[in-house]
Amino acid sequence: MPAIAIIGAQWGDEGKGKIVDLLAEKVNMVVRFSGGSNAGHTVVNPCGEFRMHLIPSGIFHREVTCIIGNGVVIDPAVLLEEIEELKGHDVAVDRLFVSDRAHLIMPYHLLLDGLEEEARGSGALGTTRRGIGPAYMDKAGRLGIRTGDLLEKGAFLERLRLVLDQKNRILTRVYEAQPLVLEEVYEKYCHYGELLAPFIRETDLMVQEALERKEKVLLEGAQGTLLDVDFGTYPYVTSTSTMAGGACSGLGLSPMKLDGIIGVFKVYTTRVGSGPMPTELLDETGELIREHAHERGATTGRPRRCGWFDAVVGRFSARTNGFSSIALTRLDILGVLPSLKICTAYRLEGKTLINPPSSVAMLARCEPLYEELPGWQTDISPIRRFKDLPREARNYVKRLEELLDCPASIISVGERREQTIMVSEPL
Ligand code: GDP
Repeated sequence: MPAIAIIGAQWGDEGKGKIVDLLAEKVNMVVRFSGGSNAGHTVVNPCGEFRMHLIPSGIFHREVTCIIGNGVVIDPAVLLEEIEELKGHDVAVDRLFVSDRAHLIMPYHLLLDGLEEEARGSGALGTTRRGIGPAYMDKAGRLGIRTGDLLEKGAFLERLRLVLDQKNRILTRVYEAQPLVLEEVYEKYCHYGELLAPFIRETDLMVQEALERKEKVLLEGAQGTLLDVDFGTYPYVTSTSTMAGGACSGLGLSPMKLDGIIGVFKVYTTRVGSGPMPTELLDETGELIREHAHERGATTGRPRRCGWFDAVVGRFSARTNGFSSIALTRLDILGVLPSLKICTAYRLEGKTLINPPSSVAMLARCEPLYEELPGWQTDISPIRRFKDLPREARNYVKRLEELLDCPASIISVGERREQTIMVSEPL
């Protein structure tokens, strides 16, 4: 199984970082293909506890090559800071490479992200204000600047002059903000270019060549399917394709080369930011899950909205991505609850829906229809074999497999690597 993608199956924060960190032991290369420093993985391993925003979690394995693909947008300051943090913990970064085609987050992206979000008022999208949306807008608008451009200083200056002229007009005339100074931005980014030069490569070729050598490549998704720009709860989504298809365009990899797609699901639902979430719990059960599970964003620290498992969006996610198996995370968390609910369908204006509507206005009006299962009310984090789980926990997992129509290959029962039940070999 040379190329396997790990895809967030819900609204992000499913625990992809842990799954990648776990599987990275067995692979030669870990690659990121979308998102930017708005994504945040928390990885806890013998090297320490790390919040990774850009660098693939595979970096903790000495033999693994880590790649940030062309589909990622890069804030050079964040990337350099992460590199320094890793070096500070004696984690080697000599096997880290960044695509020469990856777009850069520029100072005007950061400014405009904040100004645009404020201008939206009560219709704010809940962006992380890290410039990701504006950077992708420029990519599509053909105004982007890519990492490779930093290595051609003359051409970079001319391009920056052209783009900055336009951005300054928006900053000053639309938002009455201060303009940015060309020379300052140029100097700063040339400096970043010098520091990043050793990492910048034609990573598409590197991935293709690794597969030709029959090496194992793990594709690390960011955010989740319900945040996908096409299939997510638009417009409360991120600016990229977070799904399996995005893995190919975000790397320069043929879809024919993908051998497996693992969908990572948290066994309940969380969401950060605005937008409808039919199974959200606004009562003490939601609060209990949030507190017990420390549900706060890895990037922003924002409290996450918590709710029951939503098998309607789950099934949609499993089918649209074509998951070959699923990884279920945080099963240990549900041990505090006496009984558990799973949303199996929605009720909307007298009709029963088994697929989520594409309109967020309609989704917001959907009433979840639940089935209730008994909880296990015990600590399952020391358990390592499926058959040793309490019957109620096994039944809960089996019901999710049935509803998602996909087998579970991995069940995670704690944040550490070893707190995992390998049901089948996903690689
Ligand atoms: P990601 O972006 O999808 O990797 O998710 P985050 O890193 O934002 O959130 C996942 C959090 O859950 C991290 O703090 C993980 O260490 C933690 N985690 C992952 N799997 C489990 C699990 O099975 N049980 C518990 N209790 N925590 C987990």
